[in-house]
Amino acid sequence: MYGTVETIPYLCKRCYSCVRECPAIAIRVEQGQAVVMSERCIACGHCVTVCSQNAKRTKSEVGFVLGEILPRGNVVAVVAPSFPASFPDDYAKLPSALRKLGFDKVCEAAFGADLISPEYLAEIEKDGKQTIISSACPAVYNYIEMYYSELVPNLAKVVSPMVAMGRYIKETFGKNYSVVFIGPCIAKKSECKDEKVEGAIDAVLTFAELKEILEDKQIEMSALDETNFDPPEGLIGKSFPLAGGLIKTADIPGDILEKEIIVVEGRSKVEEILNELLDNKINASFIDILFCEGCIKGPAIDSNLNYYSRREKVINYINDRMKATDKQVWKSNIYNARNIDLSREFEDRDKRIPTPDEEQIKEILAQSNKFSKQDELNCRSCGYTTCRDYAIAIAKGLAENDMCLPYMIDKLEKAYKELQETQEQLQSAEKLASIGQLAAGVAHEINNPLGTILLYTSLLKKDLQKKLESPQPIEDLNLIVEETNRCKNIVSNLLNFARQGRLKISEVDIYDLINTILKPVRIKPEFNGISFSVECETHDTVIKGDSDQLKQVFLNVINNACEALEESEQKKVTIRISNIDSYINVEIRDTGSGIPKENMGKLFTPFFTTKKMGKGTGLGLAISYGIIKMHKGDIRAESETGKGTAFIIKLPLNLQ
Ligand code: ADP
Ligand code: MG
Repeated sequence: MYGTVETIPYLCKRCYSCVRECPAIAIRVEQGQAVVMSERCIACGHCVTVCSQNAKRTKSEVGFVLGEILPRGNVVAVVAPSFPASFPDDYAKLPSALRKLGFDKVCEAAFGADLISPEYLAEIEKDGKQTIISSACPAVYNYIEMYYSELVPNLAKVVSPMVAMGRYIKETFGKNYSVVFIGPCIAKKSECKDEKVEGAIDAVLTFAELKEILEDKQIEMSALDETNFDPPEGLIGKSFPLAGGLIKTADIPGDILEKEIIVVEGRSKVEEILNELLDNKINASFIDILFCEGCIKGPAIDSNLNYYSRREKVINYINDRMKATDKQVWKSNIYNARNIDLSREFEDRDKRIPTPDEEQIKEILAQSNKFSKQDELNCRSCGYTTCRDYAIAIAKGLAENDMCLPYMIDKLEKAYKELQETQEQLQSAEKLASIGQLAAGVAHEINNPLGTILLYTSLLKKDLQKKLESPQPIEDLNLIVEETNRCKNIVSNLLNFARQGRLKISEVDIYDLINTILKPVRIKPEFNGISFSVECETHDTVIKGDSDQLKQVFLNVINNACEALEESEQKKVTIRISNIDSYINVEIRDTGSGIPKENMGKLFTPFFTTKKMGKGTGLGLAISYGIIKMHKGDIRAESETGKGTAFIIKLPLNLQ
């Protein structure tokens, strides 16, 4: 099909208004752009009207008319009867303006409406059973041919006023005349290219385009004279763009009026009536359908007036001209046109795609976290009336996956959180890495001299043990050995800290690991009197991780807990293992001193310690933090001074 409407790249801002408005589901969002699928488009132009970004444009024949048709000469402008609504102040000057532009004749399409009215009467009278649907609105017959093709036989086989006028001009004025239709309608552009009415109309301009041309050519309407249209003048056909205009024009006799006649206007009502017709719920003899609320609401009418003022303008014009028109001349013009073929055919161009099966719809809904009816918000932000309609459109290949706003917001929030976490991890990893480098350097440098001190102290001790009677120097030497060993311990901690960054992954049973750690802790003399309990609330205690490094973490935290109990009356360490989603949660709670608020933020900082000189290195939690983060887990503390502390360690079951 002729691509009447297209999207201007990059102007589309994903508001989905056009998707919402398109009756044919002919708009697909591709890489952020709402693209019109020309093969599904019925050219109603609603997407053009609703786009606040002017991202939809209609195919223009302005260049063709100005550059090719007008220079050829013998060009007739056929003006749609809604023109007083588009040019409310200067409509009587429109013929002058068009002549100034180079049109040889300026006629009213209203005469074409007068021509086809008797054809409608004949169609309605012909068959008493079948409901006849008017076919003057191209958006309507496109819609029926493509989406209600069972109703194609119901379409009146009569051309539109535009085509009637085109055929009339070519027959009466001569085949050498070109015809340019000017009106409020975008769908007329598609009708002009319709093979079934080929040759009647050479080009279509909209009122909006005509105004641009006049401005471009600096033709000031107000400065022009009021002139009449060229004959033949239309009569009742002038009321065609108003609600029920066709019925009025057809001047339906009483006996036909007894049959049911329905006038339907506007997109939603069109859908409704066609569905009713399909379901055989309607027995009317004639249905006059227009996609817009009368052509005066056409998408390219370009009028500042509201609906009622537009209507009034057209009615005023009709009343003025009705008095002035010579009815005899009009009758004879109609009579002389009696041999003009005003018939046309319609065809089945079914574009419906079969509805996907229920399983497929459910699967698509699940992709955006809609698992039950309650999850379907039907918020219409995607442009579809319901979540189900949207899923069906995806299944049919007419919509993309990422148009669900609530789902996208959720996804974005999650991504943002992850990003924040990664950023924090990165920052702490960076800090740890630089401290690690320093630690590695220092540790290496200190380790060797410490070894030497130890060696020589031991040698000296052996020597002196033989020679001395007093134990004092030996005790002093023991102290040196003890202190040096402590230094070695600090250095080894530093080395552990520096070694972070590499994990040796294997399956680790956290429950077993904690029990293994507790064995030597329980028998440490300084932790005498502490009662330990391990509560395991899950069977899922096996995770993927680095067993040695995790051992170090739990040992650090358990040691800290025990050390905090020194002054407590009640000495209790409780370890609770549980599962939350795909994580294992280990809580190590003590009844110890607690941590003052001001220290809570410093716990994981390297070298932060509140312990006595020589007792703490301040590296335990810093190392633990690094190890847990490398396991994509989390470690945090909750504490109340005087009551106790809990360290909560969260680790993924399946580290990837
Ligand atoms: P260190 O134990 O060598 O001091 P850590 O990094 O292991 O270093 O701990 C840092 C500090 O955090 C401790 O000195 C202590 O003040 C505080 N802390 C850690 N765990 C606890 C706990 N369970 N109760 C009270 N304070 C704690
Ligand atoms: Mg410690």
